[in-house]
Amino acid sequence: MEDSVVAYRAIRAALPESVTLVVVSKTHPVEAIRPVYDAGARVFGENRVQELLQKKAELPSDIAWHLIGQLQRNKVKATLPHAALIHSVASESLFQEIQKEAKKMALQPSILLQVHIAQEDTKSGFSPEDLLQFLARWAGKMEPVVIKGLMGMATFTEDQTQVQTEFRQLKALFDQICSTFGKDLPHFQTLSMGMSGDWPLAVACGSNMVRVGSSIFGHRGAVG
Ligand SMILES: *Cc1c(COP(=O)(O)O)cnc(C)c1O
Repeated sequence: MEDSVVAYRAIRAALPESVTLVVVSKTHPVEAIRPVYDAGARVFGENRVQELLQKKAELPSDIAWHLIGQLQRNKVKATLPHAALIHSVASESLFQEIQKEAKKMALQPSILLQVHIAQEDTKSGFSPEDLLQFLARWAGKMEPVVIKGLMGMATFTEDQTQVQTEFRQLKALFDQICSTFGKDLPHFQTLSMGMSGDWPLAVACGSNMVRVGSSIFGHRGAVG
């Protein structure tokens, strides 16, 4: 049996059933993805639109493809018909572009709002303050876009205490949004946090969607 299948099964078995496992297949070819699909995985994550479209065309149609990487505004139109969930809506201007194109194309795209919780400046996302202001302006006016929840990435560090603090902050923000804006955001249920290095901690902190790549497929090398 492929190592990737063994790893996929072990992670799936360790996760509560209520947690969605997004298998992050970026940089890996379709031949590497297929055995994991055959083992039961139906949700895959890519960080580049072009790669997502190519793999989607070659693999079975019952896969839900999630875009987890940064989305440029000029790629929104190409993305909307194909991504089951966009995890990485990190600015008001990107949201507005998605809403504009979704209206034109008569689509109801599902998105997550990405929150900047890490110490690193390289990671994108709304600050918690900006996100709350954004929602105060937009909650109830987001149609046809469906806001499913939040996504965040913790700092890349060995310091588990810091990672835990960041995950707890994101969970607290998620809960605050549910209680403040829940009436206007009826589909706000998903908290996407946790990757290969930190998914058990993320789940312990309340994540219900983890994005795992290298623990399943091995290391990607320099790219990705
Ligand atoms: C690559 C990537 C992942 C998966 O990372 P691994 O450490 O390989 O599990 C998760 N989320 C995002 C946004 C990514 O870009």
